[in-house]
Amino acid sequence: MEKRKVIRKKIKAAEDMKQFMADYYYELDHASKSGEKKIAWCSSVGPAEILRAMGFLVYFPETHSAMLGATRMATELIPHANALGYSPEICSYLTSDIGAYVQGITPLSKAYEGIESVPKPDVLVFNTNQCRDIQDWFAWYAKEFEAPLIGIHTHRAVTDVAESHIASIAKQMEGIIAPLEEISGTTFDMKELEKVVALSRQCSELWKQVLETAAAIPSPLTFFDGTTLMGPAVVGRGTQRAVDFYKILLAELEQRCANQEGAVEGERFRIYWEGMPIWGRLRAHSEMFAELGACVLASTYCNSWIFSAFDASDPFNSMARAYTELFIVRSDEAKEEYIRMMIDFFKVDGIIFHDAKTCPNNSNSRYGMPQRLEAQTGVPSLTISGDLNDLRCLSDEQTVTNVEAFIEQLEEDKSNGR
Ligand code: SF4
Repeated sequence: MEKRKVIRKKIKAAEDMKQFMADYYYELDHASKSGEKKIAWCSSVGPAEILRAMGFLVYFPETHSAMLGATRMATELIPHANALGYSPEICSYLTSDIGAYVQGITPLSKAYEGIESVPKPDVLVFNTNQCRDIQDWFAWYAKEFEAPLIGIHTHRAVTDVAESHIASIAKQMEGIIAPLEEISGTTFDMKELEKVVALSRQCSELWKQVLETAAAIPSPLTFFDGTTLMGPAVVGRGTQRAVDFYKILLAELEQRCANQEGAVEGERFRIYWEGMPIWGRLRAHSEMFAELGACVLASTYCNSWIFSAFDASDPFNSMARAYTELFIVRSDEAKEEYIRMMIDFFKVDGIIFHDAKTCPNNSNSRYGMPQRLEAQTGVPSLTISGDLNDLRCLSDEQTVTNVEAFIEQLEEDKSNGR
């Protein structure tokens, strides 16, 4: 394959995002040290809106784990959690995060001067909509910090989201209010929840529009950009500041579209990424694809923070719906339908499935899905073996060889008019 020189095109709004994240972590750190505000730990697609509406600052351990991965600190820390009985086969977010904690290490210290540790929780709230590992992960910290643990237990492998699913999840969400009132010392205010849900919906809509700019040819955005730009949608949904950030980002990307400015110079192939990022290889992968003229422009992962069902006039039912309609909660049948829509919308030439060794929940290549999708759509795919955080699970040489061969195949298909 002919390789091109890669020119990295910076997204200007990324600077605003860095400031957003710095302010977010400093606020948490201050609250942790001063005790001025209560802190709730929340799973990434957990009921953050309820916590925010009740005055908690919300901390998301998964974002911390992604930082451990991106800074390539994770792999060495995993064995420390293994020594506590957590298998190397289970979620490497969990094992690297607990490993870091027992070693007294955090990437926050390097990124933000003066922060020495993760913020201490007053309560930990999880939702099993993503997996069971999150429950075990939070349970370990609940014991460590002697803090209460609250959970929402979700249906899994859902094909059609039915009223019975919504009713049971909404009821569980309402059920966490009383214990949270006791912990926070505040009284739940429905008006406040409506306000937060409205802001979360606005954030979600803007994030969706940001991601949809990638449908332009050439795409102004890559999946690799998206994995960091999604920070405010994960940790800041429900705030005005996250809404303001995505307005700035969207305007910049729309300008790129108007100028026909692609994120990858001379985009020739449009790729969809299914599965988690390999955090320690974001830059390497971004460059590898760009050198081959391939733009990885859309993903299930970044789309997972789109919550179109949020409705401020019906907070509990709409949150229950939004957090159950998520891709990760659904059956293969529903997932395949979704990916087919994405292939059409983003005009995709090929799909990369990331088979993440320690996260079967976010790996969809193990039960014939790539083959079924190819048969249905004619769009070929490649499965990469790897992991989100444990770099011992991937072979860089193998990945490069396989991706080059895959792009060559796409080139041939193009030449033959397929
Ligand atoms: S979904 Fe995967 S990566 Fe996320 S917490 Fe669960 S096992 Fe870990």
